[in-house]
Amino acid sequence: MELVFATHNQNKFREIKALLPSNITLMSLSDIGCEEDIPETGDTIDENAILKAEYVRNNYGYDCFADDTGLEIEALAGAPGVYSARYAGEQKDDQANIQKVLKQLEERDSRRARFKTVIALNLKGNQNLFTGICEGHILKEKRGINGFGYDPIFQALNSQYSFAEMNLTEKARISHRSKAFRELMAYLSK
Ligand code: IMP
Repeated sequence: MELVFATHNQNKFREIKALLPSNITLMSLSDIGCEEDIPETGDTIDENAILKAEYVRNNYGYDCFADDTGLEIEALAGAPGVYSARYAGEQKDDQANIQKVLKQLEERDSRRARFKTVIALNLKGNQNLFTGICEGHILKEKRGINGFGYDPIFQALNSQYSFAEMNLTEKARISHRSKAFRELMAYLSK
């Protein structure tokens, strides 16, 4: 089965490809000639996943799925949430985003946070949503050099390592994204 994963993020593409069974040929946006940025104008994580999947289906005609993820921090009323990528500005700078979060949490007692991933799948004219959540907390300083985004400052519940101290396989065992993708896989193999 051919499926397009509607992302320009090569880290994510690699992460997901490693989880997929071999009967699914995963194609990237470049593989189908989609080089433009897909608009992410939704107000929620769910809405953005749906928008991206529909963009690929409507403009390129492929069965596809899209994911959207946000980091929700309890003491910040769920921020950065849907704005996770551009929390410190439109330049989408991971380091600036991390610094902003660390600064905002300096005087806060609770550092509880969760990553939430929603996947929208458009397959044979139907749409389904799959959600994965990873609970944890924000560290006081960066730890580790792997991964991307907020990985150096996020530690999952029951783990002693930040996401950035894990390799891909270790992170995939517990991450929000792999939980959502396991749901997707279960559905696809029905
Ligand atoms: P996206 O919807 O997957 O592009 O994620 C939006 C933003 O959330 C990214 O730009 C990152 O800042 C952050 N993010 C998403 N997934 C992860 C993750 O697994 N680790 C750390 N940060 C992430």
